[in-house]
Amino acid sequence: MTAISMLINGERVQATGGATFERRNPLDGSVATIAPAATVADAVAAADAAAKAFPAWSALGPSARRALLLKAAHALEAKTEAFAAAMAAETGASGMWAGFNVHLAAGLLQEAAALTTQIAGEVIPSDVPGSLAMGVRQAAGVVLGIAPWNAPVILGVRAIATPLACGNTVILKGSELCPATHGLIIEALQEAGLPAGVVNFVTNAPADAGAVVEAIVAHPAVRRVNFTGSTKVGRIIAQTCAKYLKPVVLELGGKAPLLVLDDADIDAAVAGTVFGAFANSGQICMSTERIIVDNVVADEFVAKLGKRAKALPLGDPRKGPVVLGSVVDMTTVHRCNAMIDDALAKGAKLVCGGKSDSTLMQATVLDHVTAEMLIYREESFGPVKPVVRVNGMEEAIACANDNEFGLSSAVFSRDVAKAWNVAARIESGICHVNGPTVHDEGQMPFGGVKSSGYGRFGGMAGVREFTELRWITVQTTPRHYPF
Ligand code: NAD
Repeated sequence: MTAISMLINGERVQATGGATFERRNPLDGSVATIAPAATVADAVAAADAAAKAFPAWSALGPSARRALLLKAAHALEAKTEAFAAAMAAETGASGMWAGFNVHLAAGLLQEAAALTTQIAGEVIPSDVPGSLAMGVRQAAGVVLGIAPWNAPVILGVRAIATPLACGNTVILKGSELCPATHGLIIEALQEAGLPAGVVNFVTNAPADAGAVVEAIVAHPAVRRVNFTGSTKVGRIIAQTCAKYLKPVVLELGGKAPLLVLDDADIDAAVAGTVFGAFANSGQICMSTERIIVDNVVADEFVAKLGKRAKALPLGDPRKGPVVLGSVVDMTTVHRCNAMIDDALAKGAKLVCGGKSDSTLMQATVLDHVTAEMLIYREESFGPVKPVVRVNGMEEAIACANDNEFGLSSAVFSRDVAKAWNVAARIESGICHVNGPTVHDEGQMPFGGVKSSGYGRFGGMAGVREFTELRWITVQTTPRHYPF
């Protein structure tokens, strides 16, 4: 069991009044973590600390910010084992997923470090003689980042790395499901030597999330919010941000389609599907959630997919290497079981796997899924995946777009020009031709459309989200006025 602290103004603190909450291991129910249950006063204190640290941090030269972010990347990587232990204890994640998380999160910090010298502006031709007119990007102020549990290191780091690079100070609101994992990110940043108040960390009991988040959003120094999580909570956050007129980046749920066209390299498509569907037991926003296959190749594809899926190692990640660890909770198991029951009752065929009575869930594939079945439309966020058979490219595209979400997608075809044109017609923020739906790199514009949210993390797109673009002029010659 790990007992953790929050970080406010450089001090490791407990909640005012000493309240705490527990996170239990999803497999055996043992207490994994005891974390502070922040009060609204603690949330306001974190925003105050960030506001106080903002003038000095935003005035620091880019190379100094870069050096600290690079140090943080190294400090994070040095904690790989601690992250793996925390993730296995708190969310049941496999060691492979933890290692990937730390590696990519360190990359996000390195990319953010590189961005510090790229936060530029432009000179804009003015019609006023002698006016030097510029569009200048400046740090916005305090940024609140809210991250979920499923890719905890990547998404916790993503919530604060680019904002820090731009000269903002930050508050990370940790997930109730992985407070110790998120706390390790904060430890790495502290070890790197970021000044007091530049990074603050708040944890809350589940019932207090709404009040804690609203108190921070309402704080006048807070100028940007970013949220990664479910569409349901994303709508609440969007409403709170609207109330206080705070711009927000929303990275929400997904139901990523992977299209296998009639001329696809089947082995490549199967490999991409197995990875995209079952990495972290399907608990990734970009997880392949709809496998849309042309009837011409469907029998061969499904046979090969079933064989590969059946062979994926499953087990308690604390006992050794596995691909499928424990899912995060029994709610996931019940949701997936209900989707399996519903699909089978309506005529789907079980290719492999099946229902589960514990959080150790097998890779499950359902074939002949149709639009009437729950799993056709709703995010399973687990290792249960539908195959929808279609006739031809137009039907494949229509099926891909027949969904409220639009985060990631993929198209497999040997005809790259055809696949490119299909990619252009899919309603999603991200599309990979002949690659898996699960793919993220720090320099890429990452984000969704429709109910998957709005705004983009990554590279210069992230800089645009977390800076203020100002118009500043200098009159270099005497100015003529009409009166
Ligand atoms: P969640 O929405 O349940 O929780 C996320 C956060 O919301 C937590 O920190 C929680 O404290 C906070 N929250 C809960 N109720 C709140 C309220 N009333 N007011 C303010 N804040 C509140 O999400 P989750 O279950 O942790 O994560 C899974 C979801 O996240 C999935 O839908 C998945 O697709 C999505 N996700 C999206 C991305 C992306 O980049 N688009 C990445 C990962 C996960």
